[in-house]
Amino acid sequence: MSSVIEKKCLYLSNFFKTAIEQNRLFHSLILYGGNNYLKYLLSMEIARQLNCTESGEENCECQNCRWIRENKHPAVVTISKIDNKTDSSLTVISEEQVNQVLDTLINSSNYHRVFIFCDAQMKSLSVEEKEKYQEYIDSGFCLPQENIEDKVWFPMGINNSNFSSVAENAMLKSVEEPPSNVTFIFLANSKDDLLQTIVSRSQSFFVGDMDKINYETSFFEKYFENYPYFDMTNALSFAKCLYSYQITKNYDTKYVLDCIQYYLTELIKSNYDNKVLFNIIMRDIEKIEESKKMTDSYIKEQTVYEDLAFYLAKKCKY
Ligand SMILES: [Zn+2]
Repeated sequence: MSSVIEKKCLYLSNFFKTAIEQNRLFHSLILYGGNNYLKYLLSMEIARQLNCTESGEENCECQNCRWIRENKHPAVVTISKIDNKTDSSLTVISEEQVNQVLDTLINSSNYHRVFIFCDAQMKSLSVEEKEKYQEYIDSGFCLPQENIEDKVWFPMGINNSNFSSVAENAMLKSVEEPPSNVTFIFLANSKDDLLQTIVSRSQSFFVGDMDKINYETSFFEKYFENYPYFDMTNALSFAKCLYSYQITKNYDTKYVLDCIQYYLTELIKSNYDNKVLFNIIMRDIEKIEESKKMTDSYIKEQTVYEDLAFYLAKKCKY
């Protein structure tokens, strides 16, 4: 496994590995949030685990693993407005492009085919971007296109401006009834960037991009002592605790929500063998993404925190 994946989201990588071993991975995955290089590398790692003919070890030298690391595997294909297309519409993933993908599915294959849908551009990175992304670029997985002078292949989230709705609709039937040995992976910044009909037929994963040093968790940890059980009587005081922390420290709401998300991703790392807990945590992480969106709509912080607190408490009844 690439060390950057291990560092940033080992829990997800392990989850996918186990799901693949147990043959219970959905045929359509949405990776959202975080940074797009991380999501892209995670997709390549999933493709590698699906195709490895040995035991899936990180340094495996089987032909499939080598081809995937070199980004030359015939069955692992990146689909973006600039990758793997024959038509000239360089602004969107076109219907023609999607139809070509679907046409290839008619023939059976000995490989597990993986199609990674994202947006991309060739881009010169700023100094800050270089600092942020270099470890992803040097991950050990080649990118779909080589550098052109100082421009590097730069993945971005798919959305309705770069993935035509006609093209997306053309995908729908295959997402619903996928041929065997095919996995579609969509990389998006938010689940709302895809058609609801695609989202409802896919398994979604928030991919955090969080380095430990930046997040404080001690101020709310006591509320998570019995997690996933979350006492309704504590819900209001939990919401108050978050709000007063934000005010005292002069942090913004998103940062406070990031801290909780970070805490939950750490919890996954130590519990990834527990499938039930894993699913609950993933759901709660998604809920926190929704809370972040509420703050974008200028909803008051207290309301956002209360809504989250009651969600966590109410969930325990089911
Ligand atoms: Zn291998």
